[in-house]
Amino acid sequence: MRYPRVIQDDVAYLKRTIGESHVSTGESNRDLHSRDESYHAPCRPDVVVWPQKTEDVVTAVKLAARKGYAVTPWCAGTSLEGNPIPVKGGICLDFSEMKRVIAIREKDLQVDVEVGIPYRELNNQLRRYGLFFPPDPGAHAAIGGMIGNNASGVRTVAYGATRDCILALEAVMADGEVIRLGSRAIKSSSGYDLLRLMVGSEGTLGIVTEATLRLRGLPPEYLTVVAVFPGIRDACEAVGDIIRYGLNPAALELMDAAVVAEINRDQKMTLDEKPMLFLEFHNVNDAALASQFGMVEGVLREHGVVTIERGIGADERARLWEVRHGALDSLKRNHPGQSVLLVDTCVPISRYADMVDKAKDVVRREGAIGFFWGHAGDGNLHLGLMFRPDDAAAVAAVRRVNRAVVEHSIAVGGSCTGEHGVGIGKLAFMAAEHGISLEYMRRIKQALDPKGILNPGKMLPEEGSDAAS
Ligand SMILES: Cc1cc2nc3c(=O)[nH]c(=O)nc-3n(C[C@H](O)[C@H](O)[C@H](O)COP(=O)(O)OP(=O)(O)OC[C@H]3O[C@@H](n4cnc5c(N)ncnc54)[C@H](O)[C@@H]3O)c2cc1C
Repeated sequence: MRYPRVIQDDVAYLKRTIGESHVSTGESNRDLHSRDESYHAPCRPDVVVWPQKTEDVVTAVKLAARKGYAVTPWCAGTSLEGNPIPVKGGICLDFSEMKRVIAIREKDLQVDVEVGIPYRELNNQLRRYGLFFPPDPGAHAAIGGMIGNNASGVRTVAYGATRDCILALEAVMADGEVIRLGSRAIKSSSGYDLLRLMVGSEGTLGIVTEATLRLRGLPPEYLTVVAVFPGIRDACEAVGDIIRYGLNPAALELMDAAVVAEINRDQKMTLDEKPMLFLEFHNVNDAALASQFGMVEGVLREHGVVTIERGIGADERARLWEVRHGALDSLKRNHPGQSVLLVDTCVPISRYADMVDKAKDVVRREGAIGFFWGHAGDGNLHLGLMFRPDDAAAVAAVRRVNRAVVEHSIAVGGSCTGEHGVGIGKLAFMAAEHGISLEYMRRIKQALDPKGILNPGKMLPEEGSDAAS
């Protein structure tokens, strides 16, 4: 489908209505909004708008609806599948100036925010209330983008993904209508669940402007543990048993030896360069933590753990999570001139170890350079495949690895994306994962956005395109 370029008269209209300084057609601003953190090709919007309030979003969307312009919402641009790249040009709505905390209801463990607020900034503000918003994708993501991608992170194994932590939303729909979804109740049996439909829709069904988030109390006590294993399969099997025995980790992260070595090199760490698990437990006091960990330790030993480091203090804990979150950046810094295709798949936990084995085999067979880590407690694997973008053979090889791992994941009852979303990179797998229900997704899109102006080119492969099969 073709989309018109935004004409100068309409840019002038946006400037008059939203404010001269909140609208730009400058080259550098368009460049900054042409790429996310992925390897996907950049594409510039015609104009960038920084809404200051919901009515500004309404103004832009109504203009787009009248003229048929594409509208792509943008928060921090840290996506890994091309999700916010404005592939059809048009208007890019950057939410970074809509970042107010509107209300904190500490007794209800809720906060109302504008969606441009980065989740780390929000958590800094919430700390003094003894509360936090659990999804923790690691990058400097903002709430709107986390809602767009249904982001998750290291603590999802205990507290759920973004979708589990959203109670209500305000959204601007494709015709410019403002609607509110959800309520302040933590459960409801009322009506179709449009709230959960909107979360993870990557800005293709509506543009979220405000959200009511479900918070959690900061745990009274933490225990962080680093467990080193002789082989990655031992570590993966230990993960399966920790989950199966209901030992309630608050984080259960896998890192293979090669990625630990990359982290050591880049982040000046001295971690043992072997497969390892980072585990965290949250409980009411030290005695409860000790008894919980006693059972976990038994499982780790059954799977041949080599060393267990515990008793990690608060500063060191923060440092460990920082280095874990920095794994992808370490790869990028250690391999200048190379790109990373980050495979993101998720399978039932009993299939996790086999998926990792399968992925290792494919990487070896293709002669690719791959680094393995992931939110193992959720059955979520990340495999960072390095390649030189100008090396056609290497590009083809990493694409084949990606396809093989994703198809394997779908074949064993998993998903083509655990948390990074469909964007551009996973379009080709939507039919394999969803079959006939993809047609129902198309009908939902058609009903809510009949002109197809909201983040076009994402989520649903165009019928007849290569990606549709
Ligand atoms: C180093 C690194 C580590 C990462 N680790 C993780 C991880 O552990 N877990 C994880 O889930 N992700 C991870 N990510 C990916 C990324 O951080 C998440 O997908 C995050 O949710 C993106 O948020 P953002 O604010 O950058 O959104 P953007 O990239 O700006 O947008 C994301 C999507 O949401 C849409 N969108 C933006 N604003 C709105 C809005 N107001 N209304 C509706 N839709 C909107 C966009 O169009 C786009 O489709 C990582 C990324 C990096 C670079």
